[in-house]
Parts: sequence; structure tokens; C-alpha cells
Amino acid sequence: MILGLLKIDCLEYIRNEHIIYNELDSQARAGMVLCPVCGGFVCMHGTYKRKVIISEFDTKTVTIIQVRCKECRKVHAVLPGFIAPNKQYDLNLIKEAVEKEKNKLETCAADDSTIRRWRISLK
Ligand SMILES: [Zn+2]
Repeated sequence: MILGLLKIDCLEYIRNEHIIYNELDSQARAGMVLCPVCGGFVCMHGTYKRKVIISEFDTKTVTIIQVRCKECRKVHAVLPGFIAPNKQYDLNLIKEAVEKEKNKLETCAADDSTIRRWRISLK
């Protein structure tokens, strides 16, 4: 996985998915995007859809771009900064819930056990 490549929020990402795809394609063709495993050049591989919970009442579907390394052939998802690997919730929502739990405040819709796992994973 290539993480945090894009420092924008979920809604801005959705509005600009085509522009982001084209920009990443241009950067990959110019040799500016490297494999996080071996450092080789990558090329565009495809996309897939993924759901992200952005608030207690709202879930969005985003397009995740995949690149493939020309050297080691591994496929990497280019995750925008608001998506944490293997988590359904927006990373900002996770950080907010962990902070509220720490201060004994009311948290979001996630279970207490989920928030405890988030707190541990953010350390
Ligand atoms: Zn590689």
C-alpha cells in the first residue's frame, strides 16, 4: 500500500477522482511514483470501490487507485490520507473518537471495543 499520498478529505477526493487518477498516471509515467517494497517504477493497474464511514450517519463510496510495480510485480493500493488500511471509518473520525474517549466524552457510533482498538493502532 502507498499511504497518505493525498492530503485531502473524503468529499474533496470524490469530487476530484478523475483529476487525481490522471495526475497519478502522469506522475507514474514520469517515474515519480515508486514501489514502497522495492523502489521500482510503477504503472497504473486499475481501480476498485471501497466504502468509507465519514460520520455517524453518512457512508461514501470512493474509488481506490491501484498501481503495479514493474520490477517486483506487486499491486499497491494508493490510499488517500483519510483512509486507514483495513478500517471502514474515515481516519479523522477515528482520531476524533480516540480523543473523545481519552477525555471521557460522548463518542461516535462505533463500539467502545472498536475505539479501544483504534487507540492502540494509532500509537
Ligand atoms: Zn516493487
